[in-house]
Amino acid sequence: MEGNIFIDPERCLACKSCELACAVEQSKSKVLFQAIFEEPRPQPLVKVELVREAPIALERLTSPLQCRHCEDAPCVTVCPTSALEKQGIEGPVLVREELCIGCKWCVLVCPFGVIGLRRDGKAIIKCDLCFEREGGQPVWRPAPLRPCASPPWRNSAGRGGGRPWPICSAA
Ligand code: SF4
Ligand code: SF4
Repeated sequence: MEGNIFIDPERCLACKSCELACAVEQSKSKVLFQAIFEEPRPQPLVKVELVREAPIALERLTSPLQCRHCEDAPCVTVCPTSALEKQGIEGPVLVREELCIGCKWCVLVCPFGVIGLRRDGKAIIKCDLCFEREGGQPVWRPAPLRPCASPPWRNSAGRGGGRPWPICSAA
């Protein structure tokens, strides 16, 4: 799918820079030191999770998890209010929050467990590939691609990584 992003878990440091960058991208100000004082607090649409446990820390595997924008998306099929919609076969799955009734059916059927709830619990949140932040088109460099120091992220054009994030210890 054009504009999709791919992850190499072997390169993830679990530094969570991508979570922070995504939360800043969801904020009103788009500036880290202003975003932390905003109410409601901005939420990231990507989560870094442990995907392989191991007795030795170095052998543990973590990975950023976010929506795969499935071609035949079960979340879209199950939604009773059509709040979730696939934007054409090559497009992202987007949520219209005003239609969401918070029933969580989509949360139950998502095979990747990547749908979250808004802090007030009244609607879901999920990765939208920064769709609405670039003139209605999926972007080539979504926010999480910019700060990661490792970098496990790349997009469908093979680009990713790049600028180190100032707070990242690996930068
Ligand atoms: S939320 Fe889950 S089921 Fe829906 S498109 Fe994304 S990965 Fe697929
Ligand atoms: S929680 Fe919202 S988006 Fe998910 S199935 Fe229910 S109405 Fe649809």
